[in-house]
Amino acid sequence: MKISQRIAASRPLATTAMHGRVEDFRNKSMGIIDFSIAISHFSPPASVLDAVARAMQDERTMPYTGVAGALDVRRSLCGKLERENGLAAQPNEVIVTNGAKQALYQALYAMTDPGDRVLIFKPHWPAYVTTCQLLGLEPVLVDLPDTVTPAFLADCPQADLVIVNNPHNPTGKVYTRTELEHLCAWVHARGAQVIVDESYEHLSFGPVHTSFATLCDWRALGVVTIFSASQSYAMMGWRLGFALAPGAIASAMQTLQGPITAACSHLAQVATAAAFDSGPQQHMIDEYRARRDQVLRQVADVPWLDMHCPDSGPYLWGDVRSLSSDTVAFAEDLLAEEGVAIMPGDALGVPGFIRIGYICDDVDTLVEGVRRLVAFGDRLLEQ
Ligand code: PMP
Repeated sequence: MKISQRIAASRPLATTAMHGRVEDFRNKSMGIIDFSIAISHFSPPASVLDAVARAMQDERTMPYTGVAGALDVRRSLCGKLERENGLAAQPNEVIVTNGAKQALYQALYAMTDPGDRVLIFKPHWPAYVTTCQLLGLEPVLVDLPDTVTPAFLADCPQADLVIVNNPHNPTGKVYTRTELEHLCAWVHARGAQVIVDESYEHLSFGPVHTSFATLCDWRALGVVTIFSASQSYAMMGWRLGFALAPGAIASAMQTLQGPITAACSHLAQVATAAAFDSGPQQHMIDEYRARRDQVLRQVADVPWLDMHCPDSGPYLWGDVRSLSSDTVAFAEDLLAEEGVAIMPGDALGVPGFIRIGYICDDVDTLVEGVRRLVAFGDRLLEQ
């Protein structure tokens, strides 16, 4: 039996692995509180459900569409880009995908060759590194500073491509316009291409989110921007996303998507257009902020946990180095002893930290999960 060396050399995705562990515990009917990923308890916007219901009555949803998506859907997404992001795009520069993950994979594949170096700021979303490994790329990890300055960038290693995640999972950082301008000038000088993941664009608690591509000549520089309905519209399982890419890259992404999934489900495309038409969900953002503040209040006096206050949702990023440097063991023991799942910072490139997805379930469950986490840590401290 032969398994591809590229797959054998890749670590399984940490978030998916933890999700599997949580399911195992659930199947053993233990009361699990899952903070390991961010699954919203909100419903999708009513306009999405209406659009899908209407489309189901309509025979138009039956045929395949072009690989990049139906023209009216891509036109509608161009409208969103213009309205919300200040980006003027043509439909041939838009490709509809099964979530941001597929867009990321295809963009990375389309823009690189095996052995290319990809700069990723850490902590980082685990999928960036795993996708690089699967494609035979070399992830180059650099600590993300509080503020991105020209001096910091001057010290960064050379790379063929840079991934920028704005707003940032897991710290919630929303890059300022000035930071993005520094990044633009720097990638321009270095001749690196860029993938900007703006999946959390709608979840800012205040700071204005600026699309990187508005600050540069994204067509000439080779900048791909990725969007997702998962977090903006609480539609994780619907698998809706899209990418804005210069024509040649969009076309290369289609060449890859063709034999894999061809077009996304036509019904999902209708849902994608309706979702991205519905704008920021302010009631949801307000609720997330209230939950963030609830957790921050609850852990304010915990001596071993230094919780960072995020500017955007849906994660809290906590420093537990004074208690444990082995956060993988910390997460394992917390799950086994208290039935609470979190992500160890190791999976995001920074041991000694933990990530809490605080938007699942109801507030009582959130409070109970944090209570168990604190009780667990307090016990460790006493040992
Ligand atoms: N990018 C980042 C940084 C994320 O954290 C997530 C959700 N975990 C996504 C994208 C969403 O991916 P998808 O659209 O495939 O659900």
